[in-house]
Amino acid sequence: MKILVLNAGSSSLKFKLYVMPGKKLLAQGLIERIGEEESVVHIIYDKKRHETTQAIRDHRHALEILEGLMPRLGILESFAELGGVGHRVVHGGEVFTRATLIDKKVRETIRQLIPLAPLHNPANLLGIEAVAALAPAMPQVAVFDTAFHQSMSPEAYRYAVPTEWYERYRVRRYGFHGTSHYFVSRELARLKGTPPKNINCVTLHLGNGASACAVRGGESIETSMGLTPLEGLVMGTRSGDLDPGILFYMYKYGFRNPEEVDRELNRESGLKGLGGSNDMREIQRRMEAGDETAKLAFEVFIHRLVKYVGAYAALLGRLDAIVFTGGIGEHSAPVRRALSERLEILGVVLDKKANESPSTDARTIHTPESRVELWVIPTDEEGVIAEETYKAILDFG
Ligand code: ADP
Repeated sequence: MKILVLNAGSSSLKFKLYVMPGKKLLAQGLIERIGEEESVVHIIYDKKRHETTQAIRDHRHALEILEGLMPRLGILESFAELGGVGHRVVHGGEVFTRATLIDKKVRETIRQLIPLAPLHNPANLLGIEAVAALAPAMPQVAVFDTAFHQSMSPEAYRYAVPTEWYERYRVRRYGFHGTSHYFVSRELARLKGTPPKNINCVTLHLGNGASACAVRGGESIETSMGLTPLEGLVMGTRSGDLDPGILFYMYKYGFRNPEEVDRELNRESGLKGLGGSNDMREIQRRMEAGDETAKLAFEVFIHRLVKYVGAYAALLGRLDAIVFTGGIGEHSAPVRRALSERLEILGVVLDKKANESPSTDARTIHTPESRVELWVIPTDEEGVIAEETYKAILDFG
């Protein structure tokens, strides 16, 4: 069965086309600058590349173009060949705890959750609606970034604020990157040849957005992002944790409106705010050349990570492994080294040589005497979406 995985952003549409089961990747691509005169379509297929520029009105138009291109490139005869479409949906609130076949009611619920993810859910819905318009009978499945964290207990997900904030406004911690934390924790178990229920681990998804997750026996018990993806670790352009009093202080003395504070915390903070770049590679390069601001950004990033891993080890009670994933987790030896050196108290011992290896495969980077295993596992969120979509279609279809 061929499954198309879509990740719709406000002006972009990323896709991967798989044959299931087995996750054979037939094609992948990105349509960007949707709504502009010069939208760009990139497709990689069969070791070849296709790139064109043209005006693309909206997501439906983007999908029509994709449907027209696929037979021309010999990828697919038409969308009628697809068994289904899987969508990444950012916010599933408290409603969605697993991948869900999309019907009218599910679509409406995703819409009702827009206030919790005002940038993401509307874009995800555009992708769903575009498919429904082009192929009304196509089974569609939503896979939620929040779903894996729905196993958290109230003491982990409630904020200590008036109960009404929760009951009336749904203010609680939801967590994100769930598909990635789920994938790497499950992959860790598979690689160790043990059922997930036997392993306690901390998974670190360190990309442009970054989050940590404490996984006990295959279930998320705590994660660093909250109501929104702003809480927790230092990220490329997001601040992560801060004293909420700062908001009122800056609103009163620094800015004219809350939107400015929101924008600065989401887009101008994190590594960029401290070190002038959201790119960890540049931060590392400048740090090595003696740049003090880059060094500070790196150190704040590591300090926050140490706090989280230490706290999660305490929550888990027993820590078997730490898993690194995401662009920084998979590729930054300096970040993995700096963190591991500061986790000596947990019995972590890094194998420095293994850590420096440029391998892109899943691998261990700890020494035999390390009490905690250290793993680098490339994430595969689209692969999980394809699997979940395939399963949901077989189960309900
Ligand atoms: P996104 O969250 O947008 O999917 P990625 O997971 O690709 O992003 O991660 C992007 C981050 O990974 C950037 O900060 C980038 O600098 C960092 N990164 C990528 N390759 C390396 C590398 N070799 N060394 C250090 N950082 C890297």
